[in-house]
Amino acid sequence: MFGFGQNKHSQTGAELENGLRDNQQASAIILSAIEDGVLLVDKNGLIQLFNPGAAKITGWAEEEAKNLDFRSVIRLVNDRGEAYSPDQNPLMQIFKGSSETIRDNKGFLVTKSNQQIPISISASPLMGSNQQLSGVVAIFRDVTKERIEEKQRSDFISTASHEMRTPVAAIEGYLALAMNDKVSTIDSRARQYLEKAHESTQHLGQLFQDLLTSAKAEDGRLTSHPEVIELGSFLEQLCNDLRFQADKKGLVLEFNIGGPQTIDATNSTVVGQKVIKPLFYVKADPERMREVITNLFDNAVKYTDQGKITIGTTGDNQVVQIYIKDTGVGIPTEDIPHLFQKFYRVDNSATRTIGGTGLGLYISRKILELYQGRIWVESEIGKGSTFFINLPRLTTEQAETEKQHNNLSASFMESTGALSNSMLQ
Ligand code: ADP
Repeated sequence: MFGFGQNKHSQTGAELENGLRDNQQASAIILSAIEDGVLLVDKNGLIQLFNPGAAKITGWAEEEAKNLDFRSVIRLVNDRGEAYSPDQNPLMQIFKGSSETIRDNKGFLVTKSNQQIPISISASPLMGSNQQLSGVVAIFRDVTKERIEEKQRSDFISTASHEMRTPVAAIEGYLALAMNDKVSTIDSRARQYLEKAHESTQHLGQLFQDLLTSAKAEDGRLTSHPEVIELGSFLEQLCNDLRFQADKKGLVLEFNIGGPQTIDATNSTVVGQKVIKPLFYVKADPERMREVITNLFDNAVKYTDQGKITIGTTGDNQVVQIYIKDTGVGIPTEDIPHLFQKFYRVDNSATRTIGGTGLGLYISRKILELYQGRIWVESEIGKGSTFFINLPRLTTEQAETEKQHNNLSASFMESTGALSNSMLQ
């Protein structure tokens, strides 16, 4: 297994036996020396190997854990203490047929004494000679220290960016006053300098805002008030608000319901001569969705010198798709897998001259994950890019029920508010 005493024709039976023993001893030494927990589970889910690292983390002795169902020893919960569902549990995912290693570094392990320890865990399938699953190997480690450091880093970024936003906003305000003819008198050269300073301050303000949002997204503190949105009218309204930015750069902004690369463009119903537009309902926070679309639109404007930006929506029974298509510089294929990571910017002449933080797409992905959404891009250098968003679609009935439910809770809140006010008076 580790390359010792491999089967060579010249070896005698005794040599082979020694080699095998050496091999087993080497494996045992390695398994007891590493601090990570290592666990081998057979195809029936029973623990067959449990190293000292696993014993130390879980609080179960090796002899106790052996032959137990792994689910009684490796109990995984989320940050609210709720048990992982089979779809979240890496070992269960392997038993359900995943052929790849599954990792998780967000969960907690409940020890024998019912303490919750933050862990990172990976599970890989062991295939038998018949290509059937013969067991699962899981490796896990206590990440208490890493989580504390992560939290400190994120708290520092949140506090620092929050504190710095205030003076930056003041500087931006004063620069705007200095450039305002009604309140200040400046010569044209000073105006040029102030305009540059104003631009940089705006960029700095955006950077602090993005840092704050991404720190919140990371530790699950992004606020969200989901409600039913009909994306067709929502996007149409948003396009009207954004149009002036495209105009300023001489770009055309088009709004479409259906196309360009639709999942199902034939979902409009024709009644008599009238085309009824499909209603694309989703459940999401309108402010957050506005943030995502505005960010993708801003990018489309930033990275497009001439041509057109198309915003649209389409869908099928399950999914609503939003697309933002541009005729801009395009994105190199090798950069595409990294685009939605924090601080990732494509290194080319366009991005070197155009300001940005590399946080916009990361924040967009994190926001969409709140609504079980997905974002990706298709692009061709020199031709343009299309960003796609998929969100689960609500049927009209679901949307109506959801709206009624919200109205009911709103009026309930109102009446209880009125009641408690009258009791206080
Ligand atoms: P930034 O603030 O740098 O725009 P984003 O996270 O929004 O950060 O985008 C990350 C990178 O993706 C950008 O730096 C740019 O290289 C690339 N990018 C995003 N949108 C487009 C687009 N529409 N066309 C070309 N490149 C884009």
